[in-house]
Amino acid sequence: IETKEEKGWSERRRTEQITSEPECVNNVEYFIDKKLSVWCRVGNGEWHLGKIQSVSGDVACVVLSNTEVVGVSMKEILPANPDVLEGVDDLIQLSYLNEPSVLYNLRVRYSQDLIYSKAGPVLIAVNPFKNVQIYGNDIRSAYQKKALVAPHVYAVADAAFDEMMREEKNQSIIISGESGAGKTETAKYAMQYLEALGGGNFGVDNEILKTNCILEAFGNAKTSRNDNSSRFGKLMEIHFSAKGKICGAKLETFLLEKSRVVQLSNGERSYHIFYELCAGASPILKERLKLKAASEYKYLNQSNCLTIDRIDDAQKFHKLMEAFNTVQIPQEHQERAFSLLAAVLWLGNVSFQVIDNENHVDVVEDEAVTNVAMLMGCNSKELMVVLSTCKIQAGRDCIAKRLTLPQATDMRDSLAKIIYASLFNWLVEQINTSLEVGKLRTGRSISILDIYGFESFKNNSFEQFCINYANERLQQHFNRHLFKLEQEEYEGDGIDWTKVEFKDNQECLDLIEKKPIGFVSLLDEESNFPKATDTTFANKLKHHLKANSCFRGERGRGFRVRHYAGEVLYDTNGFLEKNRDPLHVDLIQLLSSCNCQLLNLFSSKMRDKSLKPASLSESMNQSVITKFKSQLFKLMNKLEDTTPHFIRCIKPNSNQLPGIYEENHVLQQLRCCGVLEIVRISRSGYHTRMTHQDLVARYGFLLDTKLSQDPLSTSDSIMKQFNLPPEMYQVGYRKIYLRTGQIGLLEERREYV
Ligand code: ATP
Ligand code: MG
Repeated sequence: IETKEEKGWSERRRTEQITSEPECVNNVEYFIDKKLSVWCRVGNGEWHLGKIQSVSGDVACVVLSNTEVVGVSMKEILPANPDVLEGVDDLIQLSYLNEPSVLYNLRVRYSQDLIYSKAGPVLIAVNPFKNVQIYGNDIRSAYQKKALVAPHVYAVADAAFDEMMREEKNQSIIISGESGAGKTETAKYAMQYLEALGGGNFGVDNEILKTNCILEAFGNAKTSRNDNSSRFGKLMEIHFSAKGKICGAKLETFLLEKSRVVQLSNGERSYHIFYELCAGASPILKERLKLKAASEYKYLNQSNCLTIDRIDDAQKFHKLMEAFNTVQIPQEHQERAFSLLAAVLWLGNVSFQVIDNENHVDVVEDEAVTNVAMLMGCNSKELMVVLSTCKIQAGRDCIAKRLTLPQATDMRDSLAKIIYASLFNWLVEQINTSLEVGKLRTGRSISILDIYGFESFKNNSFEQFCINYANERLQQHFNRHLFKLEQEEYEGDGIDWTKVEFKDNQECLDLIEKKPIGFVSLLDEESNFPKATDTTFANKLKHHLKANSCFRGERGRGFRVRHYAGEVLYDTNGFLEKNRDPLHVDLIQLLSSCNCQLLNLFSSKMRDKSLKPASLSESMNQSVITKFKSQLFKLMNKLEDTTPHFIRCIKPNSNQLPGIYEENHVLQQLRCCGVLEIVRISRSGYHTRMTHQDLVARYGFLLDTKLSQDPLSTSDSIMKQFNLPPEMYQVGYRKIYLRTGQIGLLEERREYV
């Protein structure tokens, strides 16, 4: 890891390179003469290092580094960087900024376990898929003392903290990347750092990290992409006192994937907690919950996957119990929660028998249904009635109508989902109660956002759509900050600036959000038609959205969306039902009649929501997607009020293996988050900016001469007195713009005084 002295050298080196050089091999003779390296794309599309020997017409004769000689079209040749720049820690330092150079630089670093790099202001984290010795107390305190400055998530957390303390402005650390790229792990390291930094005697500090253990048990699952995939989004807002000590935290979660409780794709698992409970519960607890092995439960055994390599579910269960105690969830509540989990598992085993030729059913009275009733604290006969009938109002009377097999299965699964999702939300509330200390203030908080990564499976449904929509919003926030706002600000403040083009994702957001004929409106409209089906919905989409270039209708129920991160084929199957997410009154009633405080609480919450007159409750009757959309908007508003720090996690291969760097896979991810463009902007851009007033207030006292009345000219004098090289800053009408690293120099002088 690079030390401060070395960093000083690289800063200098970078300054020399700021005069940007052309990105293609213009002067072939020069390359041949000086034996400069080039990248050339050979037949299979891979980039290889080589040296040009000669050129005839458009074809160059190149000796590859493995001594092979090939003929390559000049169009397929790009300049490579000199060896001295191999593995630089900020892509900004590269003389030639092209895709093969960036890929190679990250690969060189990756092979040395240097998983973090910078792309200007953005931290890039390439998932090592193994333990790397770059965390822990020693390294952490080295970052805290600023003895280490190499790119690291600790450095990002440290910068956020410093900026928050210096400017009294809320900060955010926004972590993105595809599923399995390492967002959740990165978020935990950031929290670990802040916790150590801001650890006080408030008691909250240890708890923040422990909450992850609980959240992961209940909200993460093994998917085909990631053995520990987050199935919900999370924003952890950590608040600090004026002295920089943690004084509380607030957790907000987004849309848990409920369907996973009842339905799994092959090779995937349900939420970890179920397997952990089955494996780790004590014999007494097992007896009380009538618990069997995970393989005995239909909700768990449907996907041919019960365990995860190298993961000990029993051990995880014990860790969870510890976390429960740290977060102070009372024993009694823990036990109730476990009963409900067991009830959900047993619900999956409840079966039905068809009793007539119209497919109407009765519940089979077996151990499954008696166990569910026992665990929920209700009468098993009542439970059987609720699961096999529905009440309908006929005039003044209420009559019970028998359900068909699919309807009854649906009712059973709804109950399981309601219980699980309510339990999850309740846990989040418990965590919040335990983290909240005193009145939370604004101005000194750091929010860490870890939201589910972009997903594209073989079958993509409503859940993937919501996840990808959230990522689309986040991407726009990223674009706005790194490209739009930055460039607009330069132009508005009258400094010299050449504009950089970037990929905007507004069209895709329009496709989703535009009123009245965006995806969300169309879905809501169709969800309100009782007769609508998945096919009518698909047709409606095709009819209304065909003009948007991000949309393509497919045969049958399918449609494609061109997301910023790639094209995804969705199947409308289940969209309407999942969007309506009806609350069955019968189920709410059942929950309220149970002899279980938690279930009573859940039912009263749901009743509050469903019984409030429309005029009182805006969320009433709101569809899932509309609720999700407004939650996202709120999130974006909150983030807009913070200074963002971006971390882009990269997944180097799709098999979750260490040491494997699949170039195309990495390239795709770098492209979709516009890494090259970010580097281009920041290379010629100014990372730090301060109004003249602020600059004078902070550094004015260092001036040898008397302060002038005019902040603009004072800040100009400050720059001159400290000999900041002219290419390292610009003076705008309102602000002073500094290149990366320069503010550190000023701060040093200030501290020295
Ligand atoms: P999802 O969107 O599916 O939730 P994610 O981006 O949150 O994915 P993680 O769960 O953080 O991905 O990471 C996946 C796995 O990669 C981890 O379980 C861990 O094995 C490994 N991993 C990620 N980051 C690191 C790291 N810094 N050091 C070691 N291993 C890591
Ligand atoms: Mg995650």
